[in-house]
Amino acid sequence: MERYLSFAAWCRETYGRRLYRTALDANMTCPNRDGKIGTRGCIFCAGGSGDFAVKYDGAPMKREDMIFNHQNASEGDYIAYFQAYTNTYAPVERLRKLFTAALEDTLFAGISIATRPDCVDEDVLCLLKELKQNYPQKMFMVELGLQSIHETSAKWMRRGYPLAVFDECVRGLHEAGIDVIVHVIIGIPDETTEMILETIHHLNECHIQGVKLQLLHYLKGTDLGDLYEKNPDQFHVLSLEEYADIIALCIAHLNPDIVIHRLSGDGNGEYLLAPLWSKDKRRVLNTISRQLKVKNITQGCLLKP
Ligand code: SF4
Repeated sequence: MERYLSFAAWCRETYGRRLYRTALDANMTCPNRDGKIGTRGCIFCAGGSGDFAVKYDGAPMKREDMIFNHQNASEGDYIAYFQAYTNTYAPVERLRKLFTAALEDTLFAGISIATRPDCVDEDVLCLLKELKQNYPQKMFMVELGLQSIHETSAKWMRRGYPLAVFDECVRGLHEAGIDVIVHVIIGIPDETTEMILETIHHLNECHIQGVKLQLLHYLKGTDLGDLYEKNPDQFHVLSLEEYADIIALCIAHLNPDIVIHRLSGDGNGEYLLAPLWSKDKRRVLNTISRQLKVKNITQGCLLKP
């Protein structure tokens, strides 16, 4: 029994087959790193999660170019995932060239653009709307790294924009007919389970199309990793059981229409300081599945009518 709407299940329902993201690094930067907003980036940032991303300049791609070449996937089963850093933080004409190239590439069933809500201005919105209309047969998604609705958490992680900017961006993307996927981090210091569920309820109210629930990783080479190495005792690092409990509750409170794209994180194991259990992804997913079964949780089961 499927207890939640996974991305794989949604792809099968919508496209009749599984689709696989392939992470791209289009040589962007981020206003939270280049000095416009900040220079140190978000406290956990190790390059906008682009560890496994392939350099991309718009040239046609082959399957051999990809780092993860899924055995069951054929041409047209991949999604061009613009992952590294902030992928709308560049002149619009450059963005047009990159996104159009990926949409034209027969390797890709569509594109997914990871960015910050404060980097989606009117010009970017017009471009995204135009491309979405020009390629109606392609999947088209924008991913926003919100992480939490709470200002204390936003300040701690040095996110650099308030919740109102996120809300406005989601409204604009929806008016343009674009699906929105939101990243949420579980395990932010001092965030209680109630606070995490408040974030989930807010996302329900925003009518987003998808969510990625990710564990806070303490990585070498990040400011958070440095703080952790100096004094690990100052942090409460979640255990696998605690994480599975929180994820189960998030699923129980999430609108059943929202597609769950991820239930853990894919941090670079080589740099991972904590939690080390997260390296074993299969065990993480099995523990979550068991928790859902034991507590008889299905997506949205605790939502009030
Ligand atoms: S917005 Fe993304 S790329 Fe920029 S500093 Fe934060 S995590 Fe890194």
